[in-house]
Amino acid sequence: MEGKVRVRFAPSPTGPLHIGGVRTALYNYLFARRHGGDMILRIEDTDSTRFVPGAEEYINESLAWLGIGIDEGVREGGEYGPYKQSERRDIYRRYVRQLLDDGKAYIAFDTPEELDAARKETPNFQYDASTRGNMRNSLTMEADEVKKRIDSGERYVVRFLIEPDREVKVNDLIRGEVSVNSSTLDDKVLYKSADDLPTYHLANIVDDHLMKVTHVIRGEEWLPSAPLHVLLYQALGWEDTMPRFAHLPLLLKPAGAGNGKLSKRDGDKLGFPVFPLDWTDPKSGEKSSGFREKGYLPEALVNFLALLGWNPGDDSEIMDMQQLIDKFSFEHCAKAGAKFDFKKGEWFNHEYIMHSDDATLAILARPWLEEAGISGFSPEYIAKAFGMVKGRANLLGDLITQADFFFKAPTEYAEKDVRKRWSAQTPEIMNELIDVLEGIDDMTSANAEKIVLDWIASKGYHLGNVMNAFRLCVVGACRGPHMFDITELMPKQEVIARIRRAVETIPVPAS
Ligand code: GLU
Repeated sequence: MEGKVRVRFAPSPTGPLHIGGVRTALYNYLFARRHGGDMILRIEDTDSTRFVPGAEEYINESLAWLGIGIDEGVREGGEYGPYKQSERRDIYRRYVRQLLDDGKAYIAFDTPEELDAARKETPNFQYDASTRGNMRNSLTMEADEVKKRIDSGERYVVRFLIEPDREVKVNDLIRGEVSVNSSTLDDKVLYKSADDLPTYHLANIVDDHLMKVTHVIRGEEWLPSAPLHVLLYQALGWEDTMPRFAHLPLLLKPAGAGNGKLSKRDGDKLGFPVFPLDWTDPKSGEKSSGFREKGYLPEALVNFLALLGWNPGDDSEIMDMQQLIDKFSFEHCAKAGAKFDFKKGEWFNHEYIMHSDDATLAILARPWLEEAGISGFSPEYIAKAFGMVKGRANLLGDLITQADFFFKAPTEYAEKDVRKRWSAQTPEIMNELIDVLEGIDDMTSANAEKIVLDWIASKGYHLGNVMNAFRLCVVGACRGPHMFDITELMPKQEVIARIRRAVETIPVPAS
């Protein structure tokens, strides 16, 4: 690749960052790292009416959690700042002036009411070469009239003057060449005097140029804006430094949830998050659930998201960030939308839990332990308990549900299992088992197993019934890891106390 690759993730702080936005950030990051380039985080907050407090912090926290590193940004600093558009007014003003002076843009005074009226009058009204001559703007008014209005403080906008009937070509790294006739585009508003700020389009282009962005990687929803962006680059005289575009495929509803774009509602209905972190809307109080709090590992979410719209070109599935970086290319990006297969996301998380070391899991699952009111256990004990059940966990919280009996004695006993495994003779046999256990000094799994099984055999007891009754006493149900692994970890006196309690509590069936 010629010159240094520079990409930017450019979210607008209008609410919690959607999972589609996270994927965009991730692809930018992978591409930048793949080519030894820079990753910029630019906050596009020119639309003050849509600004939501906390959204910027949410973006930072999400990217940090996922390990999507930023080289230049509001917090990181950098040569091309400020990286927040609301702090770049002076810069934009200069280019609005340039476009006006060059006759590439004009001033328009039409009020919202007038525009509404025009829309009503003309079906499919578009502010363009065919209509601008009938509107109130600097093309239809005398220069001193325009000046007088501006000086008197009348509100105006600056519109881009689009020449009709030109082929505008967008060269997209994923979609190939996309061609649009300029007559289909309207004279977009580039600047509003009301808040002295440019609109998204102008600010975006000016910043991409000044920040020396080489590749614009973003969601497909921005593809319709791309021809306009190409024209703006040309109008500003920056054609030679025009970035390459890559519009990523949409994230679609999961199979069975209908067609169309993935929405928060799909997630709410089917029980999966569409945001990286929990979020509470500061105005409405509406809550959205996040992958982190749901119990996902960031590495698993990254791996899952990377494969929504891209494949490595071979059949690898489990890839860490470095492997993703090494393999990433636009060649293997899909044009078609990617169904958000959240079950697959759970599968990834399961795999990552399985391959995490137990001590790490004990740390990661702390919030769930706390929530379950579990305390007073050593990190080693927790780690070992999780190690035994992690094969059954999809989410971090599942570790606690699966390992609950390591921390809390059963308070009830699964009815079905009691019916099947608890007979009139069981209490007596369990009392004998207590004696057997009391006699074992070395409770390591294999040793205890040998001694207990020998005892069962010598007595001629039914192996399955005795072992399952034992399990019922300690776990509360016929589930869980190997019984003697459990009793190796759990203090022997706790095991014995549980057997005693079960013998006292479980009613003996009439024989
Ligand atoms: N501010 C836009 C957004 O919120 C950026 C689009 C782009 O990357 O050009 O997604």
